[in-house]
Amino acid sequence: MEQYICQGCGAVIQTEHPNEPGYAPKSALEKEVILCKRCFRLKHYNEIQDVSLTDGDFLKMVSSIRDRDGLIVHLIDVFDVEGTLLSNLPRITGDNPIILIGNKLDLLPKSTNENKLKQWLRHEASQLGIKIKDVILISSVKGKGMDELKQKIELHRANKDVFIVGVTNVGKSTFINHLIQETTGEENAITTSYFPGTTLGFIEIPLDEESALVDTPGIMNKQQMAHYVSEKELKMITPKKEVKARVYQLNEQQTLFIGGLVRLDFIKGEKQSFICYFSNDLTIHRTKLENADALYEKHAGELLSPPYEDQVDQFPPLVAHSFKVEEGKVDIVFPGLGWISVQGDGATVAAHSPKGVAVTTRKSIL
Ligand code: GDP
Repeated sequence: MEQYICQGCGAVIQTEHPNEPGYAPKSALEKEVILCKRCFRLKHYNEIQDVSLTDGDFLKMVSSIRDRDGLIVHLIDVFDVEGTLLSNLPRITGDNPIILIGNKLDLLPKSTNENKLKQWLRHEASQLGIKIKDVILISSVKGKGMDELKQKIELHRANKDVFIVGVTNVGKSTFINHLIQETTGEENAITTSYFPGTTLGFIEIPLDEESALVDTPGIMNKQQMAHYVSEKELKMITPKKEVKARVYQLNEQQTLFIGGLVRLDFIKGEKQSFICYFSNDLTIHRTKLENADALYEKHAGELLSPPYEDQVDQFPPLVAHSFKVEEGKVDIVFPGLGWISVQGDGATVAAHSPKGVAVTTRKSIL
């Protein structure tokens, strides 16, 4: 087959994989100017659409930023920091300055201490060797924090290009679309132009005569729960609004099921609080530890769901990770799903998560 190149971003046109760079429906190949769907939507609807890549391709493509000069804006999801903070960011971005944007702030309880959260994000980044100039918390759907963010971008970019980098689903397109609307108003001022030598799959939106806002493809994070559930299930487990803390006073030898997706056994310790932060739509079940296996065996897919009945067979088996939680406040994190904050004198627990999804702990962030 003849090879076509998108005249917007330079990606090789393909008609098979809608979520990957260069996708265009077959009918687009007959047009005089061939654009991939992503560039087509940007051109005609002023709207950015995310495309995603797998690890190797992502590194190859996005790390070409190293050879360019500009500001890196790394967008992460504050509800899923472990799953969205890119550990290999310095390798991708070289010496370019980085600002970290924590998106989806609207999902955290209103009582969240924003300064504490920012400090923690700085700490997490520095643990990974990521040096950041600034941390800004925003909600792109609510428009919160966008003014501060625009000012900070102007300040740090020093008239250079701005590269937006992030894992899929952090809200990159929502964020960019918001910026586009504010900077271009109703007019269709956006044109994309492909210059030989610029990086394939990047979309450049002019900021002024000399510089551009560059949208880079997102990377899929395989550790996220999102990879193990269907689209319908993902919709239900992704919180849409402020997550309400659900508090359980547990005695040892009790278990909590979060739907049928993960489970936490309180094995040993004094009676204490287990505070759950998950999508409000997810049902939490408390049971005796001795009954937990049988309950799961019998009711996964119905009482304990998602996974929904027709998906139970494909859902990976739950794997237990036992550990001791220190005294104080510790969060047990199920990446992409939420976390349980344990507050007491220390406890021995077993966290069960689908095979392939890592469980992590951290000092409580709230
Ligand atoms: P992308 O893959 O990074 O481009 O992410 P999208 O922009 O497509 O957003 C992924 C999902 O997150 C969508 O369902 C958005 O509505 C949602 N989303 C994006 N920004 C926010 C936000 O600030 N708050 C909340 N609650 N949801 C958001």
